[in-house]
Amino acid sequence: MSLIVIGGGAAGVFGAISAKEANPKMEVVLLEKSAVLLSKVKVSGGGRCNVTHACFDPKLLVKNYPRGEKELLGPFHKFGPKETIEWFASHGVKLKTEKDGRMFPVTDSSETIISCLLNTAKKLGVDIRTRQKIENLQDFKGKKILLATGSSPDGYRWAKAFGHTIQSPVPSLFTFNVPTSPLKELSGVVVANVEVKVGPFSQKGPLLITHFGFSGPAIIKLSAWAARYLHERNYHTDFTIHWPEELPKSLLKIKNLPTVFHIEGKTTNKEEFVTCGGVTLKEVDFRSMESKIHPGLYFAGEILDIDGVTGGFNFQNAWTTGKLAGSHV
Ligand SMILES: Cc1cc2nc3c(=O)[nH]c(=O)nc-3n(C[C@H](O)[C@H](O)[C@H](O)COP(=O)(O)OP(=O)(O)OC[C@H]3O[C@@H](n4cnc5c(N)ncnc54)[C@H](O)[C@@H]3O)c2cc1C
Repeated sequence: MSLIVIGGGAAGVFGAISAKEANPKMEVVLLEKSAVLLSKVKVSGGGRCNVTHACFDPKLLVKNYPRGEKELLGPFHKFGPKETIEWFASHGVKLKTEKDGRMFPVTDSSETIISCLLNTAKKLGVDIRTRQKIENLQDFKGKKILLATGSSPDGYRWAKAFGHTIQSPVPSLFTFNVPTSPLKELSGVVVANVEVKVGPFSQKGPLLITHFGFSGPAIIKLSAWAARYLHERNYHTDFTIHWPEELPKSLLKIKNLPTVFHIEGKTTNKEEFVTCGGVTLKEVDFRSMESKIHPGLYFAGEILDIDGVTGGFNFQNAWTTGKLAGSHV
């Protein structure tokens, strides 16, 4: 029996490893269109790779996924952050937890994660082939296929050809441009605990004033929950900031501090961004990650209509769905 994994990102590589760990005799071929594997892992977390989040209750963990909350509950009971930490530890990589719960390799280098995954895949005998731009999947008839192409249009196109519906892809995890903000001159000021609201969505956390508008965890989280709402309004809408009683001195100087601002566009958050949208979740069996429409076809990672807020949740989705898919194949 053979498994063809398409896409050499976190989900594809972990899926291929998991298939070999479950059945060493299975032929596992991993096809990646670019020259290198795990390129997002490399740049992730500012080059440190925020591997997962120290949240060990699946019910709390799923609250960090604007899309995928219900579907990931079962999978996280099987392979969540605890199992991820144990897996990396048993492969020689120790993770540490920062104050806000984000987990990184103790080396503070994403290269540690890359070497661990690639060395493990090679040791297990995964047949890795780079520069393989697959145009159609007809050549793999009779073989099991794991689609792990992230937000690539190729993966969406193939999933559609197999009968799946795709939730239209739109960006998530971005910052707000507010050209009319009177606070731009205070760029760099952080307000510790604000509540920000847009439409029916609200989030609490630190807010960062920037020279183009607003950023910081509260805004970036809000952009994830309101990703579709903002896209439908072409990123032009009002949002409200509820200022806390205790304000930084520089803000106290501003007379009539506004609470309502007008967003006019967005800026990519370079630290981490993901795609909202992808393969419709009700068409996938989350016990195995197998397609309910086309038996033998599996999905893992960002190709699914799953995305989390910042903090290691997006990689956790890749490890969890990759693990389930690989071990079930
Ligand atoms: C700058 C940045 C930083 C980030 N930092 C973090 C972080 O610290 N923590 C976190 O949890 N998340 C982070 N994320 C999000 C995280 O990187 C993604 O959610 C995760 O990489 C998704 O993994 P994936 O394997 O599903 O997709 P990808 O990593 O996108 O991998 C898909 C792979 O498929 C390949 N592919 C596409 N089409 C084809 C084709 N036709 N044939 C063959 N191969 C193909 C692509 O080349 C790619 O290698 C970050 C994202 C970015 C952009």
